[in-house]
Amino acid sequence: MKKIGILGGMSWESSSKYYRQLNEGVRDRLGGLHNARSVMVTVDFEKVERLQHEERWDEVWHYLAQEAKTLELAGADFLIIACNTVHRVASQIEAGLSIPLLHIVDTVVNRLHEMGVERVGLLGTRLTMEGTYYHEKLEAAGIEVFVPELKSRRYLQQLIFKRMCVGTFLQRDVEKVVDVIHAFEARGAEAVILGCTEFGILLQHAKTPIPCVDSVDCHIEQTIQLALADHIEDI
Ligand code: GLU
Repeated sequence: MKKIGILGGMSWESSSKYYRQLNEGVRDRLGGLHNARSVMVTVDFEKVERLQHEERWDEVWHYLAQEAKTLELAGADFLIIACNTVHRVASQIEAGLSIPLLHIVDTVVNRLHEMGVERVGLLGTRLTMEGTYYHEKLEAAGIEVFVPELKSRRYLQQLIFKRMCVGTFLQRDVEKVVDVIHAFEARGAEAVILGCTEFGILLQHAKTPIPCVDSVDCHIEQTIQLALADHIEDI
């Protein structure tokens, strides 16, 4: 089994979801007392958020690249980043490593292809919805992508940073996010990408008019496949 390097967060709500689902997924597949072999670093989210907010992306890149290097030095065979937004600098981080990175958007695109989805809505931070790192990969894969209108994008940004990233998940937010998903359906979307790692927690019991494709589930599923690709059971 390969050793997974997890660059955590950026909120620990997200890291904790990754840690649990990776271990549960490996135990489900291999049984017994098997865990996912992994090493994780947790960065200071306050610092990352401030740098992102001020658009100081070179500093985000250098900070995260340094932390990712510690995972490589700790023996990780490949890297995952447990956050969508900072994938904006994923290729720069990967360029400084000698291990590969499993990009979260590639795993989402693979899932959308399996589902046969050609028109999709995207929920995430403002930087994810308005930036290019999701759009470029989706469009290259022939998938049309919609984002919510400005007022909803502002609301989602507040929801992520002021509530979900500090562990506050409210029913009134579930209802508002479901309304945004209804608006995607009205525009012809066949599915919605939960492109922020905390949305899956918020919407876990929600009824939505179109299927939710949770970026965390796609990322974890394909991380486990990669980690177990050459696994041979010891007897
Ligand atoms: N977890 C969120 C994401 O997947 C955003 C908050 C963060 O920057 O960690 O983009």
